[in-house]
Amino acid sequence: MVRHPRIVLLGLPGSGKGTQAALIAGKFGVPTFSSGEYFRNLRREGKLPAEIATKINAGGLVSDEDVNIIVAESFLSTQGAQAGFVLDGYPRTVAQATFLDQYLAKQNLSLTAVVDVDIPVETAFQRISGRRVCPADGSTYNIYYSRPEKDGLCNICGSPLIQREDDREESVQTRIATYEGITRSLGSYYAAQGKFVVVDGTRDPEAVFSEIQEALNDPA
Ligand code: AMP
Repeated sequence: MVRHPRIVLLGLPGSGKGTQAALIAGKFGVPTFSSGEYFRNLRREGKLPAEIATKINAGGLVSDEDVNIIVAESFLSTQGAQAGFVLDGYPRTVAQATFLDQYLAKQNLSLTAVVDVDIPVETAFQRISGRRVCPADGSTYNIYYSRPEKDGLCNICGSPLIQREDDREESVQTRIATYEGITRSLGSYYAAQGKFVVVDGTRDPEAVFSEIQEALNDPA
């Protein structure tokens, strides 16, 4: 089994990166960091700076400088990159990828693999724009794939479901366009390092995870 892997997950919003990050983290005993989740936590605590909130709500990217500092200071330096990690949603630009490579190189480290959880654009659109969440208990639904028993209400606690601001159609269009226009190019950046692996994200999460393990030379 690969020990202490350092893994980056790429993929359109809705590709299931978060689910795979949790499975990898559980199997290999490494911590995971989601930059999107980090921002959502800040928002919940009322600590998300207004200019960052505006960018996120519109579906755009937070500046490279801000995200690099957050990932380095809030995650990599506290967890210790030596022990391995899974990054979900970072890097998203070549400038971020270069920063990460240089950060690791200073410790004589490098990434183990970069996994692209690949889904078609239409699937991404339905999975995200159809998502509804319960503000009380965090459970999630999808109006296309997993509707609540009663329209618009949480199955568990009955609270009215909401749609995340950045899950609205216009934001999702922008998030997908941003991925295609900017983040997609990381594929060739990492392929040039021989680290890029593509897995089929349309399959069920366990099948996707098996494919990732095979790619990491650790058959299920
Ligand atoms: P996610 O949940 O990963 O889709 O992230 C939600 C939002 O947070 C994104 O649409 C961006 O606005 C912002 N964000 C998260 N990670 C990054 C990053 N690495 N670079 C720039 N913006 C980011």
